Amino acid sequence: MSEQLKVQFTQRIVALQKRIGAIHRDFAGGRDADWSEQAGERENDEVLNALESEAKIEIQQLSNAITRMENGNYGVCQTCGEDISHQRLQVQPAAIKCIECAE
Ligand SMILES: [Zn+2]
Repeated sequence: MSEQLKVQFTQRIVALQKRIGAIHRDFAGGRDADWSEQAGERENDEVLNALESEAKIEIQQLSNAITRMENGNYGVCQTCGEDISHQRLQVQPAAIKCIECAE
């Protein structure tokens, strides 16, 4: 199960990195806009920034999860040491705490 999940996480990281690359191309493409369009461009930049930070956070969580798999402690709550429920991991594959500790 773990190997399959690792592949899945790695693929997700690659997809997120591609998305970040696309965001950067959007940034570069928006630079030659007219002055009149600047305000709209700036709002757009903020949205792109937010999307990029979200993607980076997710990449971080996924690579942490992969590290934990390699160390053999994936799916173990970092607070109480109990196993994180399978259902919880399916919803939130990068969860590092069991549902009790996360609340
Ligand atoms: Zn816990």
